[in-house]
This record gives sequence, structure tokens and C-alpha cells, in this order.
Amino acid sequence: MTKEQIKDKIEELRKTLTQYGYEYYVLDTPTVSDFEYDAKMRELIELENENPEFNSPDSPTQRVGGEVSEGFAEVTHTVQMQSLADVFSKEELFEFDERVRSALGVDSVEYVTEMKIDGLSVSLEYENGLFTRGSTRGNGFVGEDITQNLKTIQSIPLKLNEAIPYLEVRGEVYMPQKSFIKLNEQREASGQPLFANPRNAAAGSLRQLDSKIAAERKLDIFVFNVQRVEGKELTNHRQSLDWLADLGFKIIPGNQTFDGISAAYQEVQRIGENRGNLTFDIDGSVIKVNSFAQREILGTTSKTPKWAAAYKFPAEQQKTKLLDVVLQVGRTGVVTPNAVLEPVRIAGSTVSRATLHNIDNIKSKDIRIGDTVVIEKAGDIIPAVVKVIKEDRCGTEVEFNMPENCPVCGEKLIREDGEAAVRCTNSNCPAQQLRSIIHFVSKPAMDIDGLGASIIEQLLDEKLIADSADLYRLKYDDIIKLDRFAEKSAMNLINSISESKSRGLDRLLFGLGIRMIGSRAAKILAERYGNIDALMAATREELSDIPEIGEKMSESIVEYFKQDKSRELVNRFKELSVSTEYTSTVASDILSGKTFVLTGTLPTLKRSEAKSMIESNGGKVSGSVSKKTDYVVAGEEAGSKLDKANALGITVITEEELIKLLNNE
Ligand code: NAD
Repeated sequence: MTKEQIKDKIEELRKTLTQYGYEYYVLDTPTVSDFEYDAKMRELIELENENPEFNSPDSPTQRVGGEVSEGFAEVTHTVQMQSLADVFSKEELFEFDERVRSALGVDSVEYVTEMKIDGLSVSLEYENGLFTRGSTRGNGFVGEDITQNLKTIQSIPLKLNEAIPYLEVRGEVYMPQKSFIKLNEQREASGQPLFANPRNAAAGSLRQLDSKIAAERKLDIFVFNVQRVEGKELTNHRQSLDWLADLGFKIIPGNQTFDGISAAYQEVQRIGENRGNLTFDIDGSVIKVNSFAQREILGTTSKTPKWAAAYKFPAEQQKTKLLDVVLQVGRTGVVTPNAVLEPVRIAGSTVSRATLHNIDNIKSKDIRIGDTVVIEKAGDIIPAVVKVIKEDRCGTEVEFNMPENCPVCGEKLIREDGEAAVRCTNSNCPAQQLRSIIHFVSKPAMDIDGLGASIIEQLLDEKLIADSADLYRLKYDDIIKLDRFAEKSAMNLINSISESKSRGLDRLLFGLGIRMIGSRAAKILAERYGNIDALMAATREELSDIPEIGEKMSESIVEYFKQDKSRELVNRFKELSVSTEYTSTVASDILSGKTFVLTGTLPTLKRSEAKSMIESNGGKVSGSVSKKTDYVVAGEEAGSKLDKANALGITVITEEELIKLLNNE
């Protein structure tokens, strides 16, 4: 590769990883497996190491985790919440040990081994033994104040067994597998999108503005580190873990101390072999230098401590039979071959489907129907077929070939140059319509609560809708006729469709499902252009000048809006009062879960204006004050509602304070 090509490659990887990180850490909805993410990250680290002239402080290799979402107060961590350096093999672990020993000038080091819990990192602060504040890791320096949600976790002590003047500990909040399965069952039944894995479910639950939701989610915690302490001398990790247990914390079970890396490695292997028997997910084992004095000498990099390594377990694999290959038509028309498998248990769940990606993959691995195959699941979303056991063949296996026509609509399938994917180009193909509407209503897009795949299927079958804009024409009478709907649920669905009209341009753009335009690109474009007409008028050159919007994305946008069908769709959204504008206050969920009552005459805002501002930011406005009211916004000549609010001890705010709340101040 030339230097120019290397630079482009680095930039492309940075962009992709930034997008994946955003989906994973901020939206809690990963779109690729951890395995794929880790592989790309390694590639980037290697390229950056070999080409230090392209290093940049904003590279995802330099950053710890997520961002601070709007809606929570910020917490500045006094001790940085770092990530961990990964190792993926015995050799890499022994190299880590070599670096540690040589920096310390010793022959052997005492290590503590722990399970690496696959959850969400939090910090808990205690003053005089009382729990005062809890926060997320965020970007490592600044996190989100999630105290109220953490208080719903029963195993977090609110009062310690000793009144230590000050203590900050770090732990991993996780969702036990049982709770995860139950939660996804409930979500499926109510038509909500499913969580990809327990980690994302835990993260999504902890970052709910309404702590009632967090409480329902049955989270748990393991505490694994003392971040800062006053009033206690600690000399090593082992001792600090025992002390944390005495104070009343739940610490990671089974941690052990070993002299030398060989013994520690044996334990790491044992932990790996035993992972299928746990009731919670782990994604590796952490090996830590025990002595605090030695840790001090070793120090840290900007992102990770030099005294610890996370040994990531390889993806779990299982052998099973491939019974059939079925085709699925995605929302962009891509036809994906999927394997139908003899059900097999892997990584805590039973699997009967796996992706085969595309026909080239099938051919290069020579996968045939009837083969014994090895499948893999790396804490991921969909398992994949990794290889065929050819020795197990008996001669009756059948080769698979792509059909010439779409299995759903019969249109000819095409394969564009340089693409592995085969597509159905009929944009009226029912399979494409279904998938694109599922995407449109999903949480990161228009977030229409209660509109699951089976309901969309029914609406399409009954010809009540043909595309996403038609959703906004639906009436109560249309919905009540569908299976499993009663008065209340039909009304709720009509309301959530109507609420989604104000999500704003960024979410609408993402919802349109334009090729290559993920949620981050959609936001960048919305911020830049402000309304859809300005974006539609943008040229390819102008678009590709925007940082983070590449050539291919620009082309895809221009191509999309060139089509009459897209323009017509946009016009229909406008006619149906779906917002095609971007304003930073539209479509936030900053007030989600909060109920307001307005009373008296506000200094500048009309009641209707205040109401719509609250509602478009996720809050509710109610006509009367009750215990459930969170805020009463009072203006001049406020009457009985204000009295009632005072009597019930409800927070009363002014118009100015409401605006501050909306601006997250
Ligand atoms: P990490 O999860 O690899 O390791 C660091 C974290 O481990 C710490 O924050 C800590 O909270 C946790 N931890 C659990 N048990 C621990 C223990 N016993 N001791 C110390 N720490 C412990 O790093 P990360 O920065 O949180 O996340 C990076 C990983 O997330 C990637 O390797 C990737 O697998 C995944 N990821 C996936 C995507 C995706 O799109 N699929 C995107 C971003 C990140």
C-alpha cells in the first residue's frame, strides 16, 4: 500500500469504528459483533503503530468507551475510569508478563485472576459509609450521574458496614441471563426491538431516565476495584477485595492469587472452560498485578493500566448439522443466505439459525446442505458458520446455488460489480418493504413504541400500508381490526405513531434507510442542513467536504434523493406533518418519564408552546397535580394547583428553570 492508501485506510477504519462505538456505547444497539469490532480495532492499532505519522488524538484507539448522553447530569471522575488492554492468546499474555517483569526488574510477579464480567462499568461513591453517588464510565473522564437507577440494584449497599470517611469503588453492572431472556420475551410480545445481548440490555436499562424502568429490569453488580479511599491503608488487590466483601459489597466470585504467569494462565483456561456453567455472561478473564506498590511503578497509558491484561476468550464454537439454506431479503434488497441448523446450545442459548453472509462465502468454504458445520457465537448478535467438517461427509450433501429470481417477489436478482451481495432491485418487493418499515420504526430511528414486526406484517397484508409514510395515515378504526388489539392498545399505538412525528430530521433521515447512512451520519447531515429541502439540494462535492461524510456516502445520498419515489415519499411526510426539520430541542428524550403540570400565566411562553416543548422532549403534560407529578411549572396568578404541589412537596419551577432543564443545564 502507498502512504496515501494507508492514510485512507486508517481514516476509513476510524470512521467505521467511531460509528460502531456510538451504536454500542450510546445507543446500546450494536450493529456488528464484538468479534468484528475487535478485529477492525486490531487492524487499526497495527496500522497506527506502523505509521505513527498518522496518529491522531481523536482516533478510537485513543478513547475509552462512550459519551455522555443528554438527559443525565455529568460526573467528573476524580480517578480516571480506564479500559483494559486486550490479549487474545497465551503468547500475548506471556509477553504482557515479560513487560511487567522487566519494568519491575523481578523474576516473578504475583497476579490476581478474575472473571471479566460482560456488563457496564460504574463508579460508586460513599461518604461516611453512605452511598452518595453513582455514575457510568462515559469517556473515562466524565460519566453520567445514574445514582437513582443504581439505587434500584438490591446488591449495592446503601450503607456500608464501616463508616469510612470516603470510598469510591468500581464495579460491573450486569443482567443475569435469566432476566435477559425474560426481558426479551416481554419485548417481543409487546412489539419492541430486542436487545442483542445481556450487556446491551444492562446498559440500556441503567441509562433510563425513569428509574422505575431500571428497577423492573433486575440488574445486579460485581464490585472489583477500590478507586479511591480515605481512612484505610491498603497494600494489595487481594486484601482490598476481602475488605470490600467485609464492607458488604458483592465481589467477583472465584478470584485467586498466583505466583507467576504460568499458574495464572492455567486459571484463565479453567475460567474459559467453565464459562458455559455461569448464570451471567463473561467475555474473558482479567489478570492483575496484586501489589499496589508495583502497580505504581508500572503506571498507565492514556487508556489502560499497564498492570492488568484482559484475556478475551475466543468465540465459543459448536458442531451441528446444516439442514437447509433459506434466503432472507433485507431492507436494501440484499438477499442473504441463512443456515437452518439442527438446534444446538451455544453461549447460553439454543441456536437453530446462522448467517452464511453471501454466496462467495458459501462457495469458498464449500458449504453444502447436509454438512456437519462448526458455528461460532462471540457474544454476538447472530451466530455464523465458520467451517465444514469435510471428513463427516457421506456423499448425499447438496451444493447450494443462488436462484436467479427474488424468492419473495420473483424479480430478477442482480449482483453489482465489486459487491459480494446479490440484490432484489424491486423497491416494491414486499420483503423489502417489511424490513424497511421495521427499520423505520426502530428505536434509533422514529422509535414507534408497540409497533412490532408481526403488526407491520399484518398492516402490509391487509393493504393498510405500503410504506413508512402510510403509517401516519392509520386511524384507530384500522388498528382495532387487527389481531390482538383492544381499545387501549389501539389508542396507545395511534398515540405513539403520532408522537413520532416530532422526532426531527436526523431520526427521519436514519429511518429512511438510505444506503450507508447510519445514525451518526444522519445526525451530522441534519445538523449541517437543518431541513430536508436544503439537504436534497446539496451536491455530491458539497456533501463529501463535510468531515466524516465520505465519497460513497455522498453518492448514496444524492442517488437516493434523485429518485422520484424518494421525493414523493418526502412530500408525503410533509403533508402528514412529520417533522423534516432539525432543531436541537426537537426529538430529545431529555424529559422522558417526567410528568409536568402547567399553571398560571408564564412570562413569555403560551401554555400550548410550553406543552409542545415538553412533549417534544419526551415529557408528559398532565392537567392535574398528583403524587406522580414531577414538576409544576408555575407562572403568575397560579392558583390551587400550586397549593396542591406545595402540599405534596412537588418541585415547583419557573419558565426560566424549565428552559434550563430542556437545555440540560
Ligand atoms: P473491555 O470491555 O474490553 O474491557 C474493559 C472493561 O472491563 C472495564 O471497563 C470494566 O468495566 C470491565 N471489567 C469487567 N470485569 C472486570 C474485572 N474483573 N476487572 C476489571 N475490569 C473489568 O473494554 P471496553 O472499552 O469497555 O469495550 C471494548 C469492547 O467492547 C471491545 O473489545 C468490543 O468487544 C466491544 N465493543 C463492541 C462494539 C460493537 O459494535 N459490537 C462497539 C464497541 C465496543
